[in-house]
Amino acid sequence: MQVPAAKIHFPEEDKAYISDKVEEILSTGQLTLGKYGREFEEEFARYVGTKYAVAVNSGTSALEIILRILGVQGRSVIVPTNTFFATPASVLHAGGKVIFADVTENLCLDPQSITRNIREDTKGVIIVHIGGAIPPQIKQIQEICQARNLFLMEDAAHVQGSTLDGKMAGSFGQAAAFSFYPTKVITSGEGGMIVTNDEEIYQRALVFRDQGKAGFYGNVHTELGYNWRMSEIHAVIGLSQFRRLEEFVQHRRKIANIYNEGLEEITGITPLKLPPQVKSNYYKYTAILDRGLDRATIKKELRESYRVSFSGEVYELPCHLQPIFKDSGSYKDGDYPVAEDLCKRMVCLPISAVMTPEEAGYTLDSLKKVLK
Ligand SMILES: *Cc1c(COP(=O)(O)O)cnc(C)c1O
Repeated sequence: MQVPAAKIHFPEEDKAYISDKVEEILSTGQLTLGKYGREFEEEFARYVGTKYAVAVNSGTSALEIILRILGVQGRSVIVPTNTFFATPASVLHAGGKVIFADVTENLCLDPQSITRNIREDTKGVIIVHIGGAIPPQIKQIQEICQARNLFLMEDAAHVQGSTLDGKMAGSFGQAAAFSFYPTKVITSGEGGMIVTNDEEIYQRALVFRDQGKAGFYGNVHTELGYNWRMSEIHAVIGLSQFRRLEEFVQHRRKIANIYNEGLEEITGITPLKLPPQVKSNYYKYTAILDRGLDRATIKKELRESYRVSFSGEVYELPCHLQPIFKDSGSYKDGDYPVAEDLCKRMVCLPISAVMTPEEAGYTLDSLKKVLK
């Protein structure tokens, strides 16, 4: 048996749907900002439970547009150090300054670290739901933000379909940014989505995404926007995947349950326990290795002796230790001890919308042998 780290899934009927629609798009010549983009936006907003959604060409664009609208120019924004590079980078691209904060044992932003790091010029906080779980501490973070008059936005790249107390990811702050990059739970090839309940954010996001133009047909530029549009072909791919989202998530949860049970009998590794009110989409199935075990060696042996591939970590190195930040001299090893420790010890077991229970069982057996 061979177990890949992840697998992108387009059912045959979805491929047929996409081909059909691409044919139509090519015939009509309506290639961008058309009806499929709007359909995707409407269905996505309804699903998340927000009033508005704006489709864009990447999750990174979605982050930057929101930050430009919230106005971070010359101001600082608190970002967890355990995130993908795009989160802090989007703050810098929007003209802001990044302040990193540490995380808690569930890999997500630590409210105490936020409080410690708030400065005079701090404008807001970006929370990143790592691996697919919305952390329960988001309630505390909402309170901190309200009390200090800071914005709260979600980097929701990992959490399509995840809930906390039955409430969908993307509806916890002023706005949220989703990604449909190929590795995510659903993909549009490349793409992203902004969701919000705030009409002003919505209207300005439409303007920012299209070169800051006040309207589609005019040539009046009111904002410093960019080409952040999603093409109709990407929208059709995204729509077909989006309509599979619940099915994909249910399947991932089944695989995760097999892992939850199986890992109880394996020493050396502890899965990240989720409280019952948290329903992850299992973008990643994360677990933490005991101290003293060497992750690289374990992954290599799994790959070479058992043909089981673990996926990339979330994340291997916290952002403050990435050369682009560390070399500036502002950060050093030991600044964010919880994130540094978890980043060293975490692993992500293979998971996908089409992984079989047999593959999950084989992964557990192989892991058990390697950890012995
Ligand atoms: C993937 C990802 C992004 C960026 O999304 P793109 O669509 O690749 O631009 C941003 N933040 C996090 C946490 C991500 O995982």
